Amino acid sequence: MNALLFGFLTFEFIFRLVIEIRQMRFSGKFSSTAILHLIPLVNNCIPMRDLRAAALPETPFIKAHETAHLKMRHQTLRSGIRISGFGILFFTLIYAWNYSGATLLLSILLFHLILSFLQVLWNAVCWFQEYEADAAAFKVIGKAGTEKSLAALIQKEIPKQTLYALLYQEHPPATRRLEKIKTRKR
Ligand SMILES: [Zn+2]
Repeated sequence: MNALLFGFLTFEFIFRLVIEIRQMRFSGKFSSTAILHLIPLVNNCIPMRDLRAAALPETPFIKAHETAHLKMRHQTLRSGIRISGFGILFFTLIYAWNYSGATLLLSILLFHLILSFLQVLWNAVCWFQEYEADAAAFKVIGKAGTEKSLAALIQKEIPKQTLYALLYQEHPPATRRLEKIKTRKR
């Protein structure tokens, strides 16, 4: 189990390093967060800043988007997933700790790996819901309005590469959201 775990950790470290370098080349500036993203467990709890400005104005698009989240019960689904995720983590740790004879350090590293994997899955589910809410807003306010709002959002957002954003944030980059809307007919 040890060798496998350390193999995964090495892979993860290199993977995150490559993603950080790509993101810094993409944004053209050095980020001090990059170093924190390379430390196991620390990288599971770094809050990401999405926007350059503090808050977004209540536009018809945002209203329609938020209403869609409510109507589609996205929060309820998220709560269910969160509880299941914690359940998986909890039981894996109990198993590692009690039955497989893993040391405390190994159990913590295993916890970190599973948590990282679950976080990416979590973000993917959130992204899916964001696209769904965008599509619903599109039906309410139309293509032109949605595209205009997303273009305005792009100006406010800190630009991020897709894979980097998938690792660390619950919202897809606005550039991707705009691309999705552009290919929609209705
Ligand atoms: Zn949303």
